[in-house]
Amino acid sequence: MPLGNEHMSEMSQPVDTTTAPSGQAAEEKRTTVGNYFVSNYPPFSFWKKEGVDDFERAIARPPEPGTPLGLYLHIPFCRKRCHFCYFRVYTDKNAAAINGYLKAAVKELECYRRQPFIGDRSLDFVYFGGGTPSYLSVDQLTQLTQELKGVLPWDRVREVTFECEPGTLTSHKLKAIRELGVTRLSLGIENFDDHILEINGRAHRSREIERAYGDARELGFPQINIDLIAGMVEETEENWRRCIEKTLALSPDSVTIYQMEVPYNTTIYKEMKEAGKLVAPVADWETKRRWVKEAFHALEEAGYTVGSAYTAVKDKSKTSFVYRDQLWAGADLLALGVASFGHIGGTHYQNQHDFEPYVNAILDGKLPVYRGLTPSADERLIREFILQLKLGRSRCSYFNDKFGTDVLERFAEPIDRIRKWGFLSVDGDELRLNREGLLQVDRLLHEFFLPEHRNARYA
Ligand code: SF4
Repeated sequence: MPLGNEHMSEMSQPVDTTTAPSGQAAEEKRTTVGNYFVSNYPPFSFWKKEGVDDFERAIARPPEPGTPLGLYLHIPFCRKRCHFCYFRVYTDKNAAAINGYLKAAVKELECYRRQPFIGDRSLDFVYFGGGTPSYLSVDQLTQLTQELKGVLPWDRVREVTFECEPGTLTSHKLKAIRELGVTRLSLGIENFDDHILEINGRAHRSREIERAYGDARELGFPQINIDLIAGMVEETEENWRRCIEKTLALSPDSVTIYQMEVPYNTTIYKEMKEAGKLVAPVADWETKRRWVKEAFHALEEAGYTVGSAYTAVKDKSKTSFVYRDQLWAGADLLALGVASFGHIGGTHYQNQHDFEPYVNAILDGKLPVYRGLTPSADERLIREFILQLKLGRSRCSYFNDKFGTDVLERFAEPIDRIRKWGFLSVDGDELRLNREGLLQVDRLLHEFFLPEHRNARYA
């Protein structure tokens, strides 16, 4: 599970989302079907085939000076499909199909390399998401990264993130991952209890977590993040407490915690539908928020700092997340792979969301983009404003300098509303969400959407 991306990373990639109900009064307490997590703006249902022309114009223009460039590669393979998963993943591809896919991704990058939008820029950050990037063999990974670097070098890259499923890691593979330049290893642990992992369809078990984490530590990765999900099926108070204790015992550089959601195309939803149930068999939103709150509190007691609605970091001075911060500040993201989302020169785009059309487009010498959208200046402002609010604080002067807009005026109504609900305060140049507001920020963000985007389906 996330974002971005094997799991719900903070900038989730190939997803299918619906918005949460807007407004305090409409708050849904039970967990029903739909996406809670806001990963982009405007919603994906507004990205259209007609927008591909804009995308083609965007890649044909030289870059906007000073805009950082990142690379995202979606590795859509997993050992098995988790019951809560809504990502574009395949569990049935053999080595030949996987090799063909990797070759296609490199060709895709070669095609981009010839376009003017790259200019003389170097890559600033790289992100391997999925699916499960660590599903690839050492040989596949080594060849893939060598070829990618041959097209667009990594010498000035500040961060390389790599998402892993613990059960796919051996010390040999971790060593190879370290050697190919990964600086931020993200382990999709989700839960430490074998029964909960099993009934939620996860492929790994607790002994694999311990082994993988220990090996990764020994290899000296600069940053190790672990992902957890609060409120998986059959989660209990006692087990969640144990998860927090085990997290503290591992002492990772950062901990990312998501609240369990049940999007439409998940196994859990399919089972709910068959049984005629509207409420998912997981804790309600209040309980999930409390569980994250308790985890954040325990992490803070242990010296961590809460840096966003989902993340706590052990040492703020040494821990960064370049991918998230650059993306939320409007960087260009060159996204490769099936169903990937990118953003180039002011235009959002998404690749073909099925395996064969994606690979075939590249074999035909075409870019596999199937829909796009160029947000207006106001939509770009909203996008950056809401994404940065997920950090819990936002500086008005940033938006004044970048967009020439006073956000206190532009968003006077929603700011006032959320302030009256008791979640937000304005202190000089800074807007701040308190902890309660931060823990439900994705619901609150809809207040800043343009009217036509509220309650939109994100598919
Ligand atoms: S199937 Fe599981 S491991 Fe694979 S992307 Fe989905 S949530 Fe992550």
